[in-house]
Amino acid sequence: MIYLDCNSTTPIDPRVAEIVQKYLIEEFGNAGSRTHEYGNNAKVAVQKAREQIASVVQCKREEVIWTSGATESNNIALQGLIEYGNKNNKRHIISTTIEHKSILEPLKYLEKKGFEISLISPDETGKIKSCDILNELREDTLLISMMHINNETGVKQPIAQVAKDLLNSQVFFHIDAAQGFGKDIEALQNQRIDMISISGHKLYSPKGIGALIARRRGFDKVPLTPIVYGGGQERGLRSGTLPVHLIVGFGLSAQLALKENDKRDEYCQKIKDAALKAFSELDYKINGILNDTISSTLNISFSGLDSEAVMLSLKDLLAVSNGSACTSQNYAPSHVLKAMGYSDEECQESLRFSWSYLTEKPNWEAVALRIKDLFYS
Ligand code: PMP
Repeated sequence: MIYLDCNSTTPIDPRVAEIVQKYLIEEFGNAGSRTHEYGNNAKVAVQKAREQIASVVQCKREEVIWTSGATESNNIALQGLIEYGNKNNKRHIISTTIEHKSILEPLKYLEKKGFEISLISPDETGKIKSCDILNELREDTLLISMMHINNETGVKQPIAQVAKDLLNSQVFFHIDAAQGFGKDIEALQNQRIDMISISGHKLYSPKGIGALIARRRGFDKVPLTPIVYGGGQERGLRSGTLPVHLIVGFGLSAQLALKENDKRDEYCQKIKDAALKAFSELDYKINGILNDTISSTLNISFSGLDSEAVMLSLKDLLAVSNGSACTSQNYAPSHVLKAMGYSDEECQESLRFSWSYLTEKPNWEAVALRIKDLFYS
């Protein structure tokens, strides 16, 4: 069975697994211990990993704040600005209806705290229009938070255009790049982006590690206050002992991504082209926009076929999903597809195939035959 649910979590690159193992077992020191070699080795390794992450987005290494994953990074980026927003009478935030729950839920919390949230919806292809964001800007707008690549459709969002539109504005600009970091590289190097949330387990590293990148504007730091207090690690923004083995793994993942991205992208595109070729005889619809979607995602509906039935018929061939893993246990229709104007029935037909450079080429012809059988059964 081939694993095609990489947007939910990726397999671990064996080179990453090897270095994680080394730091888990041999180099197990605490990066905060200053009195011996174990601590020093750990600290040096953490600094190297910071540089590896920083190179991918072209920021300084001290602008990388380690977290447990993109959920925590998103929470720090949003909740961390509450105090500043209140002090400066900036209590308006712009975001979108297709964000991950780790943005939408903290935004609900901020709303309860007196903030006003404007959520922009995408067009029927799942893409947000940058002008719709710009139109919402106000005197008291504190922050724009939007995703880089949608986890369900794979559609790339217009962050470069929004960044350009914001060149003469002081509004903070945060990107949830859980799906795009190390995959769609240039977009995140834009220096107008103030904060970027990233996640290790979407980039061939273990679960439980991520980072928030908080770029300085000249000498000014993003005025974040912590949501966790303790020993003052990560410049006081995220206390807690650093998981050195995970950090080192994530650093290597980032370095490999930067080096190998073109080759990976080409391979992933070939998998998508082969799928579409095999499906050409079937009645299908792409949920998204084919030429503006990451090469490793295909969200597709087969006309009139329930996705649960399709998944069942493919069970021994492919491991796929019909939504985001974080919300799929309650079988609610996808909020992303609903935002694109889909009915509940249309949402029910959508399937998400997502793969990576570590994925073996699927036998799409066999998959197409199974689906064809369902059309006639
Ligand atoms: N944002 C997006 C767009 C995601 O796809 C995910 C993971 N599904 C997250 C945030 C949360 O990331 P993590 O699992 O690292 O908390």
